[in-house]
Amino acid sequence: MSDELDFLIEKYLKERYEFNVLRFAELEKLRLDFIKKYPVAKIRNMSLDEYTPVTQASYTFSSRLRWDLQHLGTMGNAYPDVFGIYEKDSQIKLSKTYENIFGKDYSSAFERIKEDIVAVLEAADADDFEAIEKSRLNSLFKNKLLMVYYPDKVIPVCVKNTLDAYCEAVGFIPPKNMPFIFKNRALKEYKDQSETFSEWSNSQFMGFCDWIWRQNKKVTLKKAIPQQDAEKAIKLEKEIEDLHVTGEDKEAVVKVRVNQGVFRDKLLHRYHKCCLCNVNLNGLLVASHIKPWAVSTPEERLDINNGFIFCPTHDKLFDKGYISFDDNGKILISEEMDQINQTFCNINSDMSIDVNDKQKGYLEYHRKMFGY
Ligand SMILES: [Zn+2]
Repeated sequence: MSDELDFLIEKYLKERYEFNVLRFAELEKLRLDFIKKYPVAKIRNMSLDEYTPVTQASYTFSSRLRWDLQHLGTMGNAYPDVFGIYEKDSQIKLSKTYENIFGKDYSSAFERIKEDIVAVLEAADADDFEAIEKSRLNSLFKNKLLMVYYPDKVIPVCVKNTLDAYCEAVGFIPPKNMPFIFKNRALKEYKDQSETFSEWSNSQFMGFCDWIWRQNKKVTLKKAIPQQDAEKAIKLEKEIEDLHVTGEDKEAVVKVRVNQGVFRDKLLHRYHKCCLCNVNLNGLLVASHIKPWAVSTPEERLDINNGFIFCPTHDKLFDKGYISFDDNGKILISEEMDQINQTFCNINSDMSIDVNDKQKGYLEYHRKMFGY
């Protein structure tokens, strides 16, 4: 079975990987363009004309989700009513769900739909998947919103049957009747814990699932052995020791070497941009340890949860302890950083970062180290 998996990965890499890299890069451009045009903060102000219709020729919120971004987690043959409100024969129509609540009053229904969209996106930001599951927005629409606004949090799949097919193709058996969003998250977790795929983006993994499924094959992913990273860390430490540098010089060498290797690659797959701002030029992004290399165990040194991706400024601020984060990811700012420095280093007390449970332990160390 596992030889079969290696063979199929090899085959996928040869036949499809590069093609998908280009395809996902195109989609990523469309996605970024979309969220720039419709940031969460502006959704409530959207006019009905900006929202609908859903025709391919129009250039609206619904239409761009349906057509421009159709290859990012396809919605199948979704009818326009998944968007809650739509135009048909020059008439405004409401989906059944909203009509049952609002009758024919589409203008108050439209306000409510926008509220619901914002609520789903805010829930996603807070990792409150229960709230997303409960939202009355159409599930195809909900799932689409998640992968467009939070591509790092979900595998880009909208349709229930497709998700089930992908789970089966890669040997993931979810509990019976698991709600869609939790199943999606569980598949992502299965991917993140696997050898090979833990370093792939959610899109590229979806591409692999789709490819396996279309070939009518079934595989089981191998669990990653954290040991491998530990061995890499030991080897790297040995190489650095051989350079006979100490103190700050050694820290600098570690920074450079770590940023040439697997640690940065893994983090880039997870984050794509600075965790605090929108700097996303590959050449500027830096992998930043939470718990420093010098005091980490071999297992911790290349652990993806022991790091963030930052732009050079935010990396320096974090490295030197001018900023840290609490367990909810809210930024903590050193008293030394006065208003002028905060402004010009692009930080403010409203900033926060997504933090998972495994990162919390490392962050605690960081806070203690710098007296927060
Ligand atoms: Zn930044």
